[in-house]
Parts: sequence; structure tokens; C-alpha cells
Amino acid sequence: MNKTWLVGLILFLAITRVVFGQDLPLKASRRIDFKNLREQMVSSQIEARGIKDKAVLNAMRKIKRHLFVPQEYRHLAYIDSPLPIGEGQTISQPYIVALMSELLSLSGKERVLEIGTGSGYQAAILAELAAEVYTIEILPSLAQKAEKLLRSLGYENIKVKCGDGYLGWEEYAPFDAIIVTCAPEQIPPALIEQLKEGGKMVIPLGERYQELKLIKKKDGKIEIESIIPVRFVPMQRDLPR
Ligand code: SAH
Repeated sequence: MNKTWLVGLILFLAITRVVFGQDLPLKASRRIDFKNLREQMVSSQIEARGIKDKAVLNAMRKIKRHLFVPQEYRHLAYIDSPLPIGEGQTISQPYIVALMSELLSLSGKERVLEIGTGSGYQAAILAELAAEVYTIEILPSLAQKAEKLLRSLGYENIKVKCGDGYLGWEEYAPFDAIIVTCAPEQIPPALIEQLKEGGKMVIPLGERYQELKLIKKKDGKIEIESIIPVRFVPMQRDLPR
């Protein structure tokens, strides 16, 4: 081999290392086996804590949670914890998403209302479990981001609105199920009104710490059951200034 060839070969190897190198930070998250992490999340955090609904377990196995968290937290997407999503808000802990979904006992035919779209992750899980999902987010930047992501993932049964979820979504009421993922101090009256007879609502109630409540509407009256202590971001109000 003459000298020119040798120099050429060394240059070629150096360039391919830069372009396809294994140690580039940008490539790091592509090398993580997210599918395997998701499987582990479902078995060790969700099944192990008693979630049995097959449809819920399948949805948690299917939805790519790492797409719903900011790039810098992607490698942590499957840990047993909530994570920041910007604007001081969080995506809930995977177990809490599974528990709240299971409590709604969805069969696939329902119309569901979610208050607090956040990243859109819970909405995507619900879209696997029910027919139609309506979700409201009070912060415009989060509402837009979630809507864009859900659309890019091909969800046609999720409608996102930017507004104050305290008032529910009159236009599409009544709902078979309602899930609230931010915490008010009292149950918003509009949500009770917009819940169908025989319907179920899961909601964290309280100030700094909350109790997750399961509410059932029967014969026009409500029954309230306490599930577990939880911690959610507070429900904000879009009051006239
Ligand atoms: N379900 C979300 C997590 C939501 S965190 C997910 O899967 O990622 C709670 C969200 O509720 C925050 O994004 C917050 O901005 C929103 N929120 C707070 N008060 C609200 C209100 N009155 N109406 C609608 N959304 C509200």
C-alpha cells in the first residue's frame, strides 16, 4: 500500500468515527433499550403493586413514555417517579397513571374527560382504553405541545383544549368518566354536573398533600371513596384579572 492510500484510509476511519461514533452524546438516547425499560416498569412498578386490568397493562407497555418527557429527562422516563415537563409542571409517576386509569373501569366505549393535559401521556393511555378523550390544559404552551405530539403519533380520538378545566367541557358533556390530574381543594361542581349517571371520576383533593378520591354518581347522588394519599400540582384558576 503506498503512502497516499494509507493516509486516505486513516482519514476515512477518522471521519466515520466522527459521523457514526458510539460516543457522541446525541446518539446516547438512541442506544437505550426503551422497550425493555418499559417492560420492567410495568412488571416491577405496576403489576407488582396490584394493577390487574389487562387493557391498562397493555397500554402502559405500548405507549412510549420517553416521547412525552423533555429530551434531558428521556433516559429517566421509566423510573418510579414523576418528572418535570416545563412550566413548573410534572408528568405523573407511572404507577399513579395506571392506578387512576384502572379505577375508571373503562371497557373501550366511553367518552372520557381529562383535566390537566400536561405532557399528554395520560391522555394517550386513556385513548387506548376508551373511545373518545377530551383533555383540557390551562397553560397554552403545554396544551400546544401536547396537541402537536398526540397528532404526530396519530391519535384521532383525542381532543385538546386550552382553558380552565374547573369548568369542565360543556359542549361534549356528559362524560362516562372524568380524570383530574391537578388538585383542587373541593370537587368542581361543573365536573359533577358533567358526569353521566353511573359514571366514575378520579380526583386528587386537598391543598399541599391530597387524597385520591373515586367518585361515583348513582341516582343523582355522589358516593366518595378514599383511595391513597397522593401529591399533585395544584389546580390553577383562570380568573378574570
Ligand atoms: N396528566 C398529565 C400530568 C399533568 S400535571 C400528564 O400525563 O403529563 C397537571 C397539569 O394540570 C399541569 O400541566 C397544569 O398546567 C394543569 N392544570 C392546572 N390547573 C388547571 C386547570 N384549572 N385546568 C386545566 N389544566 C390545569
